[in-house]
Amino acid sequence: MRSLLVTNIGELVTGDPAWGQGPLGIRRNAALVIDDRRVEWIGRAVDAPAADARLDADGAAVLPGFVDSHSHLVFAGDRSAEFSARMAGQPYTGGGIRTTVGATRAADDEQLRANVARLRNEALRQGTTTMEIKSGYGLSVADEARSLRIAREFSVETTFLGAHVVPAEYSDRTDDYVSLVCGPMLTAACGAGARWIDVFCERGAFDADHSRAILTVGADAGLGVRVHANQLGEGPGVQLAVELNAASADHCTHLSADDIGALAGSSTVATLLPGAEFSTRSPYPPARALIDAGATVALATDCNPGSSYTSSMPFCIALAVREMAMTPAEAVFAATRGGAAALRRGDVGHLTVGARGDLVVLDAPSHVHLAYRPGVPLITTVVLNGELI
Ligand SMILES: [Zn+2]
Repeated sequence: MRSLLVTNIGELVTGDPAWGQGPLGIRRNAALVIDDRRVEWIGRAVDAPAADARLDADGAAVLPGFVDSHSHLVFAGDRSAEFSARMAGQPYTGGGIRTTVGATRAADDEQLRANVARLRNEALRQGTTTMEIKSGYGLSVADEARSLRIAREFSVETTFLGAHVVPAEYSDRTDDYVSLVCGPMLTAACGAGARWIDVFCERGAFDADHSRAILTVGADAGLGVRVHANQLGEGPGVQLAVELNAASADHCTHLSADDIGALAGSSTVATLLPGAEFSTRSPYPPARALIDAGATVALATDCNPGSSYTSSMPFCIALAVREMAMTPAEAVFAATRGGAAALRRGDVGHLTVGARGDLVVLDAPSHVHLAYRPGVPLITTVVLNGELI
């Protein structure tokens, strides 16, 4: 494989304080070489060695590719009418998930695959080089397995979310549906290559006992644990995530002081999804309190057709800075290193020697511009696994 020299980097965000200045480990007038898909060399641009190919950053900022650790890309249909109604004052309840389940079951494989490809490419153009993808709009054994097989064509970070909601045909039979999820559906999900298991632990979805049962049996089957927790109100999700040593508790919109303390004292990452609060006109999660308490925070898009139809990590960074009192450095860290921690990955989310060759070049001299210039397409170049995209 050809080696790639990226040089004349005005601001290199390594993502590791040991490799540069400040919490983002920033180096000035830097260069790096990617060889065999890995960062092989980092140093001053004037000392840069030769390589097979050369990318001149012309003084711009270079960052690790974004790690989006929470998305729901396998679906069909559109819920713009629901969004419009919500913006006219109707509350968000999560019930629209069943609308997407109907459309997803009715779609053929090619339609689902094309939709994932479209959104994955959209995210890639905006700098996302690692993307977790959940199932959760099939909710039958065959449809969940199909969703995971298609997701697996686009990412190794696939998550079984059979416990998204109780499907209509199991209304008033939640115990039966949980048995299905824990039995044949889990077996099929493992066969389809799932790496993670997730539960929507929320009033109107799955309570603490059901969520614990599903996550425990998933962990016993070898899957990593993640939890949709405390999105619509305070609830048991965050404490359950910490109890089960989940990689991530996602949303964390409504947290008690105990929840914040539990996250801060654990290895469970608090994954914040401000696109959901934006799109449901809800209060934002208490990022400042989490960070000040010492919790590890990630930012992700929650890309889905109902409550957060954005694939843009730069948009989430801008929201986190403007609406959640995070500094630009904290937001960039959360969108890279934080996401990697939420997926328990050490090879992505940073640019140090040995890391995977995933990076973005901005049309800007500093990472601060991601929040300073919201809504502007600042990602000019993406390198994925050492290859220019
Ligand atoms: Zn979600």
